[in-house]
Amino acid sequence: MAFIKEVKAKESESKFKKTRFMQLPSGTVSSVRILNDEAYETYYHYVKGYSIRCLGRSECPICKVNTEIYMQDPDAYRENKSYIASRKRYFVNVLDTTVAKHCEKCGNDVKDTSLVICPKCNNSIATVAAKPINEVRVLSKGPALFSQLGELDGNVKNAQGEVMSITDFGIDIRVSGTGIDTITTAIPDPFVTGEVVLPEGEELFDLEKAIITLEPEEMVDLVSGVQLRDIFVARSSKDEPKEKVATFVGKVADVSEPASAEALQDVSARIDKLFG
Ligand SMILES: [Zn+2]
Ligand SMILES: [Zn+2]
Repeated sequence: MAFIKEVKAKESESKFKKTRFMQLPSGTVSSVRILNDEAYETYYHYVKGYSIRCLGRSECPICKVNTEIYMQDPDAYRENKSYIASRKRYFVNVLDTTVAKHCEKCGNDVKDTSLVICPKCNNSIATVAAKPINEVRVLSKGPALFSQLGELDGNVKNAQGEVMSITDFGIDIRVSGTGIDTITTAIPDPFVTGEVVLPEGEELFDLEKAIITLEPEEMVDLVSGVQLRDIFVARSSKDEPKEKVATFVGKVADVSEPASAEALQDVSARIDKLFG
């Protein structure tokens, strides 16, 4: 009986596996192998620090409000505080092979290997040896980076002069600048080619679950000030067994992190448009 119990626990664990997003700190170069032939594309609204999936113009309450605001003032609708633009975002599984220092205390992989203190938890990493991360992560960014990746797909040749697809070669992602001046550049590495073999125990994440999806009425609640945590608690007490709450809440914390960097990028794009 014990054996069967353990198998069940493992199954449910992998079913609700928390998305681990790839970190792209400024001033570093990350090395990846892309693991999906196609990036997962969705629109989202940035609400109260979270990226929330846009449900499409006919369903999405935020888009409906946006349309009303636009109709009232087509020249200055963006200045209206209630206008929450929908933006495009992409997700793809990658094998992150970047050489980094692993912080034992908080699990963070510090990609700036010159650092002696973990920037997340202030633990000393002075004596930690840098080594490739070699784990699957979800790379999530906007069109600025993913259009570059799209350009590389089918446009890079191997040593034999054969055209390769995006999953056939290594890519370095260089991040420079900070805040609204962040620039992310994808550079193919022609020396890393061939099929990717995932390290034992590594598996792909479900990309559909990498972004928070709310019901229309839950979106309205969030915009009107209800905490996301409370929305999930209310949802779970309605139709989900209790133990799922922790997973949902855990996911929330992870999703919020790259979202703020993304928001800054959006601001950057808008400022570029204004002054560019
Ligand atoms: Zn929407
Ligand atoms: Zn740490």
